[in-house]
Amino acid sequence: MTRNNNQYDVAIVGFGLIGQICAKVCSDFNLRTLVIESRSNVELSSNAISLDDESSRLLKGIGLYDSIKGFLNKPDFTDIILSNRRVIQRNPVLNTDNEFPSISTFFHPEIEEIIKKICKADKNIDLYLDNELINFESNNNTVRLDTKKNNKLINFDVSYLIACDGSNSFVRKKLNIETIDQRYSKNWLLIDILLNENEVLENVFRQICDEKRPTSFISLSKLRHRFEFQLLAGEEHQKIVQLNNIQKLLSKWIKPNQYKIINISIHSFRGYYSKTFQKDNIFLIGDSAYQIPPYASQGLNTGIRDILNLIWKINLVVNLSCNKNLLHTYSLERCHQVKQTIKSSIALGQLIDSLSMAFQKNIPLEEAIAPEARDQAFGRRKSIQEIDSNKGIFSHSQSERIRNRRLTNREITDKADMACLDKMVGNSFVIFSRKDIKDKLDKNVYKKLINLNFKFIFDFKDLNTGPELSEYLETGEIIIRPDKKIYGLSSKNLNINQLASELLTQIQ
Ligand SMILES: Cc1cc2nc3c(=O)[nH]c(=O)nc-3n(C[C@H](O)[C@H](O)[C@H](O)COP(=O)(O)OP(=O)(O)OC[C@H]3O[C@@H](n4cnc5c(N)ncnc54)[C@H](O)[C@@H]3O)c2cc1C
Repeated sequence: MTRNNNQYDVAIVGFGLIGQICAKVCSDFNLRTLVIESRSNVELSSNAISLDDESSRLLKGIGLYDSIKGFLNKPDFTDIILSNRRVIQRNPVLNTDNEFPSISTFFHPEIEEIIKKICKADKNIDLYLDNELINFESNNNTVRLDTKKNNKLINFDVSYLIACDGSNSFVRKKLNIETIDQRYSKNWLLIDILLNENEVLENVFRQICDEKRPTSFISLSKLRHRFEFQLLAGEEHQKIVQLNNIQKLLSKWIKPNQYKIINISIHSFRGYYSKTFQKDNIFLIGDSAYQIPPYASQGLNTGIRDILNLIWKINLVVNLSCNKNLLHTYSLERCHQVKQTIKSSIALGQLIDSLSMAFQKNIPLEEAIAPEARDQAFGRRKSIQEIDSNKGIFSHSQSERIRNRRLTNREITDKADMACLDKMVGNSFVIFSRKDIKDKLDKNVYKKLINLNFKFIFDFKDLNTGPELSEYLETGEIIIRPDKKIYGLSSKNLNINQLASELLTQIQ
């Protein structure tokens, strides 16, 4: 194995939630990781409020979930209602086939504090707080970073730079990466409150199509709650944040003597994404690459999907001597996906506005909103097809239907009916089959797969396979990527040796 002489494999600039989770994933892949953050130790932000089951699954995989789960809240349901409380859409929050709630809410500073501590104690992560990235330059195998701490300059040489530096990304701007605006911008007032002991509010994730002012109400824990109010055209920001106005807005739910205000901010909900998420050895992740209006609550989740897509690929190059060109697939695989997520989020925002308007004007709701827009908004998780797999690390010899799907954790369960696919796959490529396939592979191919830490799983005694995996195993052998996405499935026309060779050509 050849290692370069850089001090670090990756540098992460920005230690918000995405930078923190990214650092932990890098460490999990045994990458020597540097983190640069301009804020001091004590500042904590309060933006993101929810995780979906896929994000919880990743956090479990890197050992963070159990540390933060005491601070996660499972709302009773998510809903969209009118101001007269008529329910337009209501879904109970249940555990999915990944064995986590479809949505968990939280108070950002609480979980950020825990994750920060865990990162600080991690021997693979060097953390430089109060340290700002002020310049960088990328040459073939190295990115040189200039950082500043209290007027003192510090330089680092790293192999890869990952920008997690938020929506004002210095890295994106310096690289002159163009953004594509989805022409959506609305200002919202966000208020976090802490209820007095013994006070109670509903435990829900609710969008209210209020004809006067679209509103969101989200429980973050028993006592912590987030209120979001759309600002109306011409409304003065200075006036709206005044205490008497805030108390008036909240008075529908609760009286001033029943709560404490923890945080008030005005945020512009926008939709745009970068044309590319990569330049040379530099990658954009999370808010540094795009802004998603948070109606569908996908900002943090989408950033976590970026991490899930990129870091195993960097691991292949850094630790397993694979071809660096495979890293181009990060931007190719993620860009299209992010664009679809932004579209769905905007559709949900527009749906809420249209329903509020229809209610105000007494127009029948069915006429107020096109059925496609409803589908786009409500059915967002199903409608976002991960279709651009032609360009990624997937077998191109077979149908779109199979490749690029992520197998759920419950596709393998143990005797106690506990999901265990993730535990079995870990961070590796896996070939699932009904029998040992060593003899079906050319010696050379087998040896290469072993060198790439491939796992071969064919003994399902004492285990149950789910409907999807069982169906594939009827047809042939199946290759799963480290992010649990299906690379491809062997068949009569494509044997496992050919399938594995196709993968090797793409990554070596
Ligand atoms: C009001 C609001 C509500 C939201 N609600 C939700 C939600 O319900 N669900 C959801 O999934 N998402 C939500 N999001 C989105 C979510 O908060 C973000 O996607 C996520 O927190 C982004 O994290 P980040 O780490 O990419 O960026 P940030 O949290 O912005 O972190 C960037 C970090 O980079 C540092 N930095 C910047 N420049 C430099 C530099 N030059 N050198 C060193 N450090 C630097 C900054 O100090 C900062 O700490 C919401 C966002 C907002 C603003």
